[in-house]
Amino acid sequence: MYRSHSCGELDTSNINKEVTLAGWVQKTRDKGFMIWVDLRDRYGITQLIFDEERTPKDVVEIAKTLGREFVIQVKGTVIERESKNPKIPTGEIEILVKELTILNEAMVPPFTIEDETDGGEDIRMKYRYLDIRRNPVKNSLLFRHQVAMQVRNYLSNKGFVEVETPYLIKSTPEGARDFVVPSRMNEGQFYALPQSPQTFKQLLMVGGMDKYFQIVKCFRDEDLRADRQPEFTQIDCEMAFVEQEDILHIFEGFTRHLLKEIKGAEIGDFPRMTYDEAMKTYGNDKPDIRFGMKFGELNEVAQHKDFKVFNDAELVVGIAVPGGASYTRKEIDKLVDWVKRPQIGALGMVYVKCNEDGTYKSSVDKFYNQDDLAKWAEVTGAKAGDLICVLSGQINKVRAQLSALRMELAERLGLRNPEEFAPLWVVDFPLLEWDEETERYHAMHHPFTSPKPEDIPLLDTKPGDVRANAYDLVLNGNEIGGGSIRIHDKETQALMFDHLGFTPKEAKEQFGFLMDAFQYGAPPHGGIAFGFDRLVAILGGQETIRDFIAFPKNNSGRDVMIDAPATIDNQQLKELSIKLDL
Ligand code: ASP
Repeated sequence: MYRSHSCGELDTSNINKEVTLAGWVQKTRDKGFMIWVDLRDRYGITQLIFDEERTPKDVVEIAKTLGREFVIQVKGTVIERESKNPKIPTGEIEILVKELTILNEAMVPPFTIEDETDGGEDIRMKYRYLDIRRNPVKNSLLFRHQVAMQVRNYLSNKGFVEVETPYLIKSTPEGARDFVVPSRMNEGQFYALPQSPQTFKQLLMVGGMDKYFQIVKCFRDEDLRADRQPEFTQIDCEMAFVEQEDILHIFEGFTRHLLKEIKGAEIGDFPRMTYDEAMKTYGNDKPDIRFGMKFGELNEVAQHKDFKVFNDAELVVGIAVPGGASYTRKEIDKLVDWVKRPQIGALGMVYVKCNEDGTYKSSVDKFYNQDDLAKWAEVTGAKAGDLICVLSGQINKVRAQLSALRMELAERLGLRNPEEFAPLWVVDFPLLEWDEETERYHAMHHPFTSPKPEDIPLLDTKPGDVRANAYDLVLNGNEIGGGSIRIHDKETQALMFDHLGFTPKEAKEQFGFLMDAFQYGAPPHGGIAFGFDRLVAILGGQETIRDFIAFPKNNSGRDVMIDAPATIDNQQLKELSIKLDL
């Protein structure tokens, strides 16, 4: 038996007990006649004492050789501590050691294994197993487990069944790029790793599983943006015989349950907003509604004067920054520089100070009088003391720019409180999205999403206006889940592929299995998938998902610990019939 107790459980109720503990040496303090060692394991820290008078001499001698992170086992007696530490559960006791075994020595770790470490991101990733010994990382993983348990319990109680779907599947051209895996036994052929189990979960509905879920790895070979992982985890769900309303209802309950159990947050009905409204009011399809600063569209009240910049713009739009009238000239110049950064890309920013005395002072006083500016204030909801920031230009660009500014200002103003939770359903997404690069329409969600029946006639005339039975769940400005009611008949699915530019042959080759299945009694069905890593991070009050993944990849998609990806040897390449042309 390596241990009778963990390092986190002994207290004064165990005084005089003989115990055996095992763990890592966090810290030693050698006072000559006495040595204290903090012994750590997953459960906590227990203080050990080696005392010249009460501990056998040879044991004291070994104790003197202990270094940080040595793995040891001790036997001893629980005694009351002289100087107590009220901060930890074991702080009132210590173990008077009688026997000590070094189970394994350790090199000096490359960074300190403390809550606040001196190790930078790179070194911590390279030695992730040491990083995991630190409380912040360890606790994040424990937290993730707790959320996963809540997810499983809730869905299981509601009749959902966890079914595993394959990881070696077939590459499809839609969506992101696939990671592919060569097949040794099928020369020249490749599997792809799933971007999501989408088609399989639909087939499970055809198979009569009725309610499915899976906490599942998904793989997308995308250019990595900050805080994206090439492999990530979804809570993937699908239900048969449902309409959009049923899905929203179930998963609202699910999210409410998580917020209550994990955060103690009681949330009422989730508000809903159409995609159009979200774009118009927040410039964004995942608005953070914890704070206001709603967009005010100013075309009508700003395009009647000689200000060419505005007159030429497709959209003139502003937000009211609470208390912003007190910003100095320098602060405002900095804001202007901020929106002009290439990442944001605005050409400039017009501003209006709404003075406490009811007058206005703007950067375009040459063109607009007090009455004009009063109208801007009305449209943007600016009050005395606020600053109106106005951007103009092409509609999509300007919305994205102002949305970025809104988020930045909210951050600076402390309006994004991580302990406040404001979920929101965004509904009625467009079915199709125009892609400038390929000059054709893409499925905004995926090709299996059903159009709203009343919009189907528009497919031929105004494809961009067709709305989908698709929805996203947004939490504090993050898309945490998204899904749709699916197409479940062959004809509509074929029509959809046709509009996405697939020839009937291509559609058959790539998705024949699904269309075939639809001919054997496919029930109406729909579902949703949640980004599990992000959900855990948000519930944990943090924005970086990496902290909640045991072994994450870095920003270049590399695992710096195992050094992957890596080349493979010629023999392996040969077996796979792969010739490299580098
Ligand atoms: N498979 C979809 C996704 O990964 C989610 C869904 O439609 O259920 O985004």
